Amino acid sequence: MSTFLQNTQKIIEEAAEISGTNPGILAKLQIPEHVWEFEIPVMMSDGSEKKFHAWRVQHNSALGPYKGGIRYHQDSSLDEVSALASLMTWKTSLAGLPYGGGKGAVKVDSKTLNEMELENLSRGYVRGIFKYIGQKMDIPAPDVNTNPKIMDWMADEYSKLAGVWTPAAFTGKSVEKGGSRGREIATGFGGYVVLRELLANNQLPVTGLSVAIQGFGNVGSNIAKILFEKGFKIRAISDSKGALYEKNGIDVEMVLKVKEKTGIIDRKKCYGVESHDEPCRHLTNEDLLFSDVDILIPAAMEDQITLENADRVKAKIILELANGPVTREADAILEKHKIEVIPDILANSGGVVGSYFEWMQSLEEKYWSEARVLEKIDDKLCEAFDGVVSTKAEYQVSWRMASYIRAMLRVSRAMDLAQKKRSS
Ligand code: NAD
Repeated sequence: MSTFLQNTQKIIEEAAEISGTNPGILAKLQIPEHVWEFEIPVMMSDGSEKKFHAWRVQHNSALGPYKGGIRYHQDSSLDEVSALASLMTWKTSLAGLPYGGGKGAVKVDSKTLNEMELENLSRGYVRGIFKYIGQKMDIPAPDVNTNPKIMDWMADEYSKLAGVWTPAAFTGKSVEKGGSRGREIATGFGGYVVLRELLANNQLPVTGLSVAIQGFGNVGSNIAKILFEKGFKIRAISDSKGALYEKNGIDVEMVLKVKEKTGIIDRKKCYGVESHDEPCRHLTNEDLLFSDVDILIPAAMEDQITLENADRVKAKIILELANGPVTREADAILEKHKIEVIPDILANSGGVVGSYFEWMQSLEEKYWSEARVLEKIDDKLCEAFDGVVSTKAEYQVSWRMASYIRAMLRVSRAMDLAQKKRSS
């Protein structure tokens, strides 16, 4: 079993024990309700056919239809998708949404495909899983290396197979194709809301604090932009090619401008600006984690802060915008150093909350302004944050444990009620 899945199972067991969850229910929560594993035959541009391995894991549906992203990554595995699907059950529960948890993945290095091959692969994924997804059954969304264009292809393929336009079967679509304003920035925006609430809770100022962000994709670049605008000092950023550090603060607007042209890591110029060579410097991806900052935001992949390197983290707050970036063993070390870790299921839940509002709009085919969507995400996350604060005080546990206990109580109550209904 992978470390990521082991960690997910461990935290569920611990939360079940502390919350007094019935062992029968815990046993059901430790295995997914359904696992779909299939091959996608894809017509390549040279006329050959290539097969790609794919999964959809449906973890739990006690609170509603399964909800969760689809990831394209060369290292994806069934263990990874299972852990991510389980995280979605806890995330949707904690946010008070009428959803269960699911996740999908294709084992592919999508950068090696051209646009036509990527479209064939995305449509093929939908054909492989069509019978088991749908607007009231399982609603996928984007994740690592998937984006609104891919969701548009998927929603279109689904609608063709269903014989009727069904935009609510996918979220994270482009606004032009029935997506929601504000959905693209929802995860980063939600991360900011949770951080703002935490700083207020800790009676710390909301501006001027220094930050390091690992990952500069959808989530990392959006949180960087928001925090930069709010007056935080973004000292370090990275993508899969490496990291940049500037003690006085990186000009995120400038990085965003050069990102498409040169990528954020330009060996000669830091981020496209010659004059930033000093004091701007390059770091390895791992070294970014040990930067001298107040807040560390992992926004790339799982298993980044581990037993081996947790001792070297200098930040006082870790905001988990990636899923599973801190292992359970690392958690114990960070706790010993009094570093507050705001867990993924709370910190990055702005994405699924944004998806929920997109789903509502798609079902009604009535669309809201960005300001309205962001205001609703803000309210929902404040409610979730306040809930975790009260559970934390009641059980005297860490942010992660309080979040899991709260999420588990809601899911296990729903499972208990369903069991009673069946036996009456
Ligand atoms: P993305 O594909 O848009 O971006 C991923 C970024 O991480 C890229 O910049 C990539 O270069 C970088 N990266 C990959 N490996 C890295 C490494 N080892 N070190 C530094 N950077 C690295 O993906 P995303 O949608 O931004 O997702 C990032 C994380 O956030 C994932 O864990 C995902 O599950 C989680 N998440 C995403 C959403 C969402 O709405 N997209 C919602 C909740 C959680």
